[in-house]
Amino acid sequence: MKSNEDIRRRLGLRPVINVSGTMTSLGASIVVPEAVQAVAEVLPQFVEITDLQRKASARIAKSCATEAGFVTASASAGISLAVAGAMTGDDLLAIERLPDTAGLARTEVLLQVGHMVSYGAPVDQAVRLAGATVVPVGTATSAAGYQLDGAITDRTAAALYVVSHHVVQYGQIPLEEFAAICRAKGVPVIVDAASEYDLAGFLAKGADLAIYSSHKFLGGPTAGIVAGREDLVRAAFLQNRGIGRGMKVGKEGVVGTIAALDAWEKRDHAAARAREDSHLKLWHEGLVGLPGVTAVIEPDPTDNPLDRLKVTIDPAKAGLAAWDVADRLAAGDPPVIVRDHEVEHNYFYLDPCNQHDGEAQVVLERLLAVLRGAAGDPPQGDARERLLARGRKGLESLLRFPR
Ligand SMILES: *Cc1c(COP(=O)(O)O)cnc(C)c1O
Repeated sequence: MKSNEDIRRRLGLRPVINVSGTMTSLGASIVVPEAVQAVAEVLPQFVEITDLQRKASARIAKSCATEAGFVTASASAGISLAVAGAMTGDDLLAIERLPDTAGLARTEVLLQVGHMVSYGAPVDQAVRLAGATVVPVGTATSAAGYQLDGAITDRTAAALYVVSHHVVQYGQIPLEEFAAICRAKGVPVIVDAASEYDLAGFLAKGADLAIYSSHKFLGGPTAGIVAGREDLVRAAFLQNRGIGRGMKVGKEGVVGTIAALDAWEKRDHAAARAREDSHLKLWHEGLVGLPGVTAVIEPDPTDNPLDRLKVTIDPAKAGLAAWDVADRLAAGDPPVIVRDHEVEHNYFYLDPCNQHDGEAQVVLERLLAVLRGAAGDPPQGDARERLLARGRKGLESLLRFPR
């Protein structure tokens, strides 16, 4: 547990146990030692950044089985830069003029409505930041090939495809079909795969660019990866002379991402999975027989090789609702943050992918204490009212910043 006693104490912050996944709001991931070392090595040194990005391109091309790549500040920045590049190509003057798109022939970006999600900020805003216009395709819960095809005009600059647990998981156009329709009309396809393990699959299915977060499953520093067709990668990279300046990635982000990709290639993925499965088993077995608690192991909705434990609470039997459990875990010592984005349905998930040694046991102990009522009196008042108050409190706290 040594790694959990550190700079946070010195800053007066509470060390958190993260069972929610790779959340920006909690610091994303445990950065792998190889990346930590590389970042520390490069920080005091000078380096020719474009040459460093050329090295990153080769590393990314190998990992993603594609032509080229570069490192951005984040996946979100990668979306904006990729869209900008699809509009400007390598026209340096057009790049400097963005987000003013006057004079550019192609400024529209197609996006299925079921993919118009928020990952903490709206994905369509990342498109609009470049000066592009989003053209919605389909409806919230259904989109078909003819709708995509019919939306393509001589103003279409690109089509964006989002792979995520956030998007509607049914009724959407499969990527292969989406890419084939776009390819037939010469429209580049950009895939937002920020949180996906598969580094080559989306490009293999016909995407022209694929975008990843360095700081999620790869365990890199805060950064993003743009990978794919060389001309599109170049056009996106050149945006660093324009709108990309405010999304600058430093030497540490690039070097750390190269190191994280190296480590990913060498990692014993079966062993990592087995470790995660042992956490799930510990929690699953530990919760058996608790009144009003049902736990099942569920696969990842986008087929990442990662399972999570879904914990459903029957408030009538458990004496408190799922959101009460989440709040009590988060308020305790140490705070345990569960994956609660669907908590209004009275369940949350435990994600095993970011645990330091010993933490899984602490998570179980804290869960048992809360569920056995040892962590406070029964909650007062109406459970639904507490859920609404919870949402309000979160926003109020944010709006009080910096207090
Ligand atoms: C996390 C995420 C993003 C944002 O990634 P950052 O690298 O944090 O900017 C974008 N899209 C999806 C689908 C994500 O999950």
